[in-house]
Amino acid sequence: MKIAIKNANIITMDKNMTQIENGYIIIENDKIAKIGDMQDYQEEVVEEEIDANGDILMPGMVNTHTHISMIPFRSLGDDCKDRLRRFLFPLEMECMTEELVYKSAKYAICELLLSGVTTIVDMYYFESEVARAVDELGIRAVLGETVIDFATCDSDKAYGGLEYGEKFIKRWIDNERITPFIAPHAPNTNNTEALIKSNEISKKYNVPISMHISEMDYELKHFREKYDKTPIEYLESIGVLSERLIAAHTIFLTDNDIELIKKYNVKIAHCIGANTKSAKGICPVSKLVEKDIIVGLGTDGPSSGNTLDLITQFKLFANFHKYINKDRSVFPASSILRLGTIEGAKVINKEKEIGSIEVGKKADLVIVDTKSVNMFPMFDVYSVLVYSANASNIKTVFVDGKCLVKDRKFTNIDFDKIREDLIDEMREFKIKAKDKEKEILE
Ligand SMILES: [Zn+2]
Repeated sequence: MKIAIKNANIITMDKNMTQIENGYIIIENDKIAKIGDMQDYQEEVVEEEIDANGDILMPGMVNTHTHISMIPFRSLGDDCKDRLRRFLFPLEMECMTEELVYKSAKYAICELLLSGVTTIVDMYYFESEVARAVDELGIRAVLGETVIDFATCDSDKAYGGLEYGEKFIKRWIDNERITPFIAPHAPNTNNTEALIKSNEISKKYNVPISMHISEMDYELKHFREKYDKTPIEYLESIGVLSERLIAAHTIFLTDNDIELIKKYNVKIAHCIGANTKSAKGICPVSKLVEKDIIVGLGTDGPSSGNTLDLITQFKLFANFHKYINKDRSVFPASSILRLGTIEGAKVINKEKEIGSIEVGKKADLVIVDTKSVNMFPMFDVYSVLVYSANASNIKTVFVDGKCLVKDRKFTNIDFDKIREDLIDEMREFKIKAKDKEKEILE
């Protein structure tokens, strides 16, 4: 299959930040075969031709931390203190089933694709069901089963995720679009043995390991009291820091933590929307990037950040980081866009395949509508994407060379049916969630 996209304002996000204001690209099967200026375009036989008509063509975005099957929780107890332990953990235990995970994942994938996210890093329970949804709907994903120190919706014993997770890795390890990994929930919700075992699994199969780290104030207190260490120092002491580790959040970091992250080449998934909404704090990203530590952006689950798109994160990132640095010139728009594309690809060690528009890379591509009312005028394409754009400006989306969204409509996905199926599946969940709301909020 050969597809040509013509008359596009191409921002490649390659090393030199090459931009071609009126360019074309040729997609051949799953890869980008040619990129050039329209002046040099030579007609070739293609199955499909798309006239971008001056719209922006950019790489698909990489959401480095989420829990997509938590769609049913969105807007529940948003303003409640310690929502995780009061709302989420008990309701997950009571109501999450394989079918609900699967149908929620399908719904979330629709939302992700419509917003131009083409790759996700997801960790949850029943992760096989998330993989099933990803496999069917065509997004790219790095998926991990959660390991935690209590019985869960998918295991009747603590740490059931270790066994489930290893089986899951074996099942998906050779898949083109799905990369499995192991996901201990957090250092304080696992014992030392489970963390070491998770790391051994990650090492054995050479897959990532990801967990929430230095996110909670009670997590910091726990490690200070028990070991007189920070969570990062503790993880180093048990041998869990490595280039395979994707640390989500890392809000509370000391200078020594940052040195350790650098030393072991740990990758960071920064979730500005979720962290500021929950009033926890802000990861010191400027200190991290100063040391060339790799940082990508994540939304966290749809109940934590309420959206799954990265364009919302761009704006939040700019506003908060400029504010805390008291400098409007830090993190120029182009650098923020890098975090959402090529740097995100580096977080998952896939920068040779995705994250920028270069010949030979996977055709994970997004066309952004420049005729929308909020997109004019456009003195600087990066500024427009970071400060003015929103997810509804995303027009056309390719993953792995396949056009999944065209002119804001799915080419092959019946979204109305997916939505109806989820509403049906959520009936019992809704009743229990409302009961919980009453119990907690009244
Ligand atoms: Zn999370």
